[in-house]
Amino acid sequence: MTDSFSVHIIGAGIIGLATAATLLARGHAVTLIDRNDPGSGASRGNASGIAWTDVAPLASPGVWRKAPGWLLDPLGPLSVRPSYAPAILPWMLRFLSASRPAAFKRSVSAIAALNAEALPAWERLWAETGTGGRLRAEGCLDVFDKPGEVARARAGWQLQREHGIEVRELSADEIRDMEPDLGPTVAGGAFLPGWSHLDDPHAMCLDLERVVIERGGTFLRGNVVSVIDTERGARLRMRDGPVLHADKVVIACGAWSKRLAESLGEDVPLDTERGYNITVPEPGVSFRRFIMLAGYGFVMSPIAQGLRIGGMVEFAGLTSPPNWARVDALVSRAKRMVPALSVEGGERWMGFRPSLPDSLPVISQSRRAAHVCYAFGHAHHGLTQAATTGELVADMIAGRTPAINLAPYAIDRF
Ligand SMILES: Cc1cc2nc3c(=O)[nH]c(=O)nc-3n(C[C@H](O)[C@H](O)[C@H](O)COP(=O)(O)OP(=O)(O)OC[C@H]3O[C@@H](n4cnc5c(N)ncnc54)[C@H](O)[C@@H]3O)c2cc1C
Repeated sequence: MTDSFSVHIIGAGIIGLATAATLLARGHAVTLIDRNDPGSGASRGNASGIAWTDVAPLASPGVWRKAPGWLLDPLGPLSVRPSYAPAILPWMLRFLSASRPAAFKRSVSAIAALNAEALPAWERLWAETGTGGRLRAEGCLDVFDKPGEVARARAGWQLQREHGIEVRELSADEIRDMEPDLGPTVAGGAFLPGWSHLDDPHAMCLDLERVVIERGGTFLRGNVVSVIDTERGARLRMRDGPVLHADKVVIACGAWSKRLAESLGEDVPLDTERGYNITVPEPGVSFRRFIMLAGYGFVMSPIAQGLRIGGMVEFAGLTSPPNWARVDALVSRAKRMVPALSVEGGERWMGFRPSLPDSLPVISQSRRAAHVCYAFGHAHHGLTQAATTGELVADMIAGRTPAINLAPYAIDRF
């Protein structure tokens, strides 16, 4: 039995919730703190993929071939809002550096190490908490409508195979046989049978919240403004409310984690890749599998509420309002591939992916504060990597050697 600590987790998104459930299972006393409802941030409306078969970071040598075309299209898969361009420039320069071949290779290894554990860790968490039953293990179709893009995708599929991931390249007809509602413009693609997704990412958050409370954890609503390390723990200053004290603190505030790390004297180049989607209850088409339209930068995910169509990357910071024209653009692109698609009654959503320039999260002991750990910056893979992150944080708190070498995810790597 390891020591038992009082642990305050700031942020009740999927990362904070999975961490809370794991820490409770390991005998710690847990308080989850969030200024909003649990699971109401990026974890609420994501595409639901347990995307462990993705090993390529966004920062890749190939992105620079595509980026200029994308950036010229204000509604394209990747865009920078002009007013945000000066603020994002330092992040972009680091992104550029992380896209060089040697750095890309390091990021691939680090993503693959986390993702190899992603589904097994979720299965352990589901078994431990009794929250299983949401997994749809139907695989994913990577679909393209231009033969040139199919050819270019082969390098990525080869990279996946090198990491033991099964990828079956398919002709357009074979793809339409699997998903007949894809239209005649399909040019080819691949099937990844190992991919899986959940029926509802928000419900997964609420399931974990319920278990945390049932098992004696506490949820506290409040806005943490700073963290102060002390000799015997850490103190949290709240916007309105008393100063709290805990043996250990985990900062899991997703895209909003930068300021709290700064309060401890640690500067981290965290920004947000905003993503958009629309969830349609009766889309007039039906898919069994997760469909990835990488050439357009979005996915179609069949979930409990209907069909969720979304993705895209927009750099516009944490405060500017959503640009819903992006959703209209992705719908019109989706219709090129799925002519019978209807989006009537669809609900639009925007979420803030917490992103570091090298596409890796920060899962790290603070270098400035002995009693503080970080668990943020999971970008496109937060749902995928949440259960693994919870286990790694629990290992750090117990002073145990984690199953994965944590050096690539350290806060001071930049
Ligand atoms: C369009 C889109 C599609 C995606 N699809 C997928 C996918 O298919 N698969 C996948 O794995 N990932 C996907 N992601 C990424 C995934 O959603 C995120 O990586 C993940 O949700 C991040 O979880 P989090 O807990 O770190 O952050 P969040 O869910 O954003 O939670 C952070 C919480 O911290 C709270 N908070 C912040 N600051 C404070 C403070 N000072 N005091 C108190 N509380 C605070 C916030 O209120 C919030 O509840 C997608 C994201 C988007 C936007």
